[in-house]
Amino acid sequence: MKPIDPRAYRKIVVLSGAGISVASGLPTYRGVGGLWQDDELPRFAQTSAWRTDPLGLWNAFAPMRDALSRVRPSAGHLALAAFEERQPAGHELHVITQNVDGLHGAAGSRRVIELHGNLRRSRCASERCASAPFEDDRASFERLPTCPTCGALQRPDIVLFGESLSVAAEHGAKRALRDCDLFIAVGTSGLVSPAAGFVRSAKYEGARTILVNLEPTDPANAYFDDELLGRAELLLPELLGV
Ligand SMILES: [Zn+2]
Repeated sequence: MKPIDPRAYRKIVVLSGAGISVASGLPTYRGVGGLWQDDELPRFAQTSAWRTDPLGLWNAFAPMRDALSRVRPSAGHLALAAFEERQPAGHELHVITQNVDGLHGAAGSRRVIELHGNLRRSRCASERCASAPFEDDRASFERLPTCPTCGALQRPDIVLFGESLSVAAEHGAKRALRDCDLFIAVGTSGLVSPAAGFVRSAKYEGARTILVNLEPTDPANAYFDDELLGRAELLLPELLGV
């Protein structure tokens, strides 16, 4: 495979899913990275669980939070950040991720849209509160944490099943895809909404489209020009020449 030249594309969009984080040694919880791609969603990740048993929801996420405090970016995450570093001025690489592990930011990627939020952050659960989400490595609680500004409960800064994506994330993804000339989906089949729409948008913009995943799309997704089958942490460094 001929590596991509950092000067060849002006606006690259990478959509990442659970497959890029496997090599980071994350335990294969449904929930870290892959939650929203799974058919069977865990009971605790639903909005209803937050409403009926918020402490139970916090504690259900505790082992994942704990694991996230120890994992490091994979060779795939690092390759994306290193490639971005090598791009000439005026060229951009945007990462849109379905993962909640925060590993693209940890690797050094500068333009990251976390579609489903970040499990390493918490925020005030009140819509009316102006306090910002914050880095939070607390794992479990005996009593529910509350917001120092307004007194409402604090919650993990992630999108639970049954909730909408944040307006900022949706808008950010749309803006990133505008005029994109190379689209790479990595570690995801890209078949689940809203990701499925991203490759179509990229194609509509005239971008070259590449899938990097363990398995081929089935049925074949005609929106991808190329499919590279294998592990993200091996194929991405090769593809990006870093
Ligand atoms: Zn608040």
